Amino acid sequence: MSESKVVIIGAGLAGSLLVIYLAKRGIAVDVYEARGDMRLEEVAAGRSINLALSDRGIAALREVGMDEYILAEAVPMYGRMIHSVAGETKLLPYSGRKGEYINSVSRAGLNVALINEAEKYPGVRFHFDQRCIYFDCAMGEAKFSSGTKVTGDTLIATDGAGSSVRNAMLHGGVERFNFAQTWLEHGYKELHIPRLHHLHERVGSSELFAIEPNALHIWPRHKFMMIALPNFDGSFTCTLFLAHKNPPVHAGGSSFEALATKESLLNFFNKEFPDAVPLMPTLTDDFFTNPTGNLGTIKCWPWNAGGRALLLGDAAHAVVPFYGQGMNCAFEDVRVLGQLIAKHHTEWKTVYKEYGELRKINADAIADMAEENFYEMRDAVADPVFVRKRELETKLEQTYPDYFSKYSMVTFREDMPYSLAKEKGNAQDRLLMSICGEIENVMEIDLENVHEQITNLKY
Ligand SMILES: Cc1cc2nc3c(=O)[nH]c(=O)nc-3n(C[C@H](O)[C@H](O)[C@H](O)COP(=O)(O)OP(=O)(O)OC[C@H]3O[C@@H](n4cnc5c(N)ncnc54)[C@H](O)[C@@H]3O)c2cc1C
Repeated sequence: MSESKVVIIGAGLAGSLLVIYLAKRGIAVDVYEARGDMRLEEVAAGRSINLALSDRGIAALREVGMDEYILAEAVPMYGRMIHSVAGETKLLPYSGRKGEYINSVSRAGLNVALINEAEKYPGVRFHFDQRCIYFDCAMGEAKFSSGTKVTGDTLIATDGAGSSVRNAMLHGGVERFNFAQTWLEHGYKELHIPRLHHLHERVGSSELFAIEPNALHIWPRHKFMMIALPNFDGSFTCTLFLAHKNPPVHAGGSSFEALATKESLLNFFNKEFPDAVPLMPTLTDDFFTNPTGNLGTIKCWPWNAGGRALLLGDAAHAVVPFYGQGMNCAFEDVRVLGQLIAKHHTEWKTVYKEYGELRKINADAIADMAEENFYEMRDAVADPVFVRKRELETKLEQTYPDYFSKYSMVTFREDMPYSLAKEKGNAQDRLLMSICGEIENVMEIDLENVHEQITNLKY
């Protein structure tokens, strides 16, 4: 056992994976989580909330031997299934290469699996129902609403986008602490498509999934969109992204504020998502019961208070969910931190300094790309030039092993920093959009010539 004792605030996705990394090095860890033990609590109505796990996250799980266990109950998603208003569907593959896909996993299932694994190590203790309310950056002491006060050799805050430790750093704990929070005008609401046998009488099929299971479904409608990710049990979790308040009339669309009655809700859904409505028997209940979430980006700096505390995961860099990378990035944070602990052991000041230098540029890059991808998912996937560009990219990926689209670099290249994926990907996107804007059919394109232009790009 190492002499070092680490305090972790927040046993969410990043916090519970981090515990395993530290415990594997023989470091004693005390974890304080605001919520109760989720293993003892019923998940609301048995409904699963899911999220997309991809290569960066898988790489971090692999290092602690958890990848296969988690993937065993994941649903592979090979592409985006676009639903038009008329109910037509089109699959846009995520990659032209076999084996490059993303995985829909249960958020609660993943969290519970990580906590269970972490608890197997001696020296690991979870303290539930312990909300951190303050961190004394000078003394290194965390205070909890229960009155408990805790000091370790260092503290790592994985308490998510509303981090209490970050607040303490902002409000006088760390000199010249930079903080920026940008809200989207859109919020989100989770809805539900049950597995098919619940709808049996209605649709008359014995298949388990009501729509294609191996895809991330998108209903892009410019000013708003709905997506659906499959769950292992055959159901889908849908997320409606919509403006909180009424957008200007000329902008069209609706808003959560405008959907105040059952009638307005059903009119909106029947008009915009007619193919989904028959699959959503609990739509009105879900809509009026489930909370409307906010979406925002948080950037801050520095991430550490000397060697006494470090912010990691959403606590350091919350991003909007449109690249499906928030958790994957947080898991990559943990992996990089693990490598630095292997290098510098428990010299926390050195570990945190090098960690920030390595990660800040990449966290900023994925935050920017995630915002950009909102517009891509909402608007561009319904744009014929963009659809041609995706077809061209698929052909390039099928033909040239060294070609990766921006999406593939972000999602499938655990060896490539987000910052490089952003620069290279943006340069490629500009070139390919301009090529596809001038043709009607990708079959007309001289693939070799395009590949050469990409190889010669400066970025
Ligand atoms: C709608 C939506 C969809 C998403 N989809 C994806 C996706 O497909 N793929 C992906 O990679 N990412 C996705 N994300 C992002 C992902 O959810 C986050 O990036 C990820 O959960 C960050 O992990 P974390 O551990 O840093 O924070 P969290 O998971 O938020 O965990 C924070 C933990 O800290 C606890 N806590 C909070 N405050 C305190 C306190 N004061 N004291 C003690 N404990 C506290 C919380 O209870 C929680 O357990 C999505 C996010 C949203 C909102």
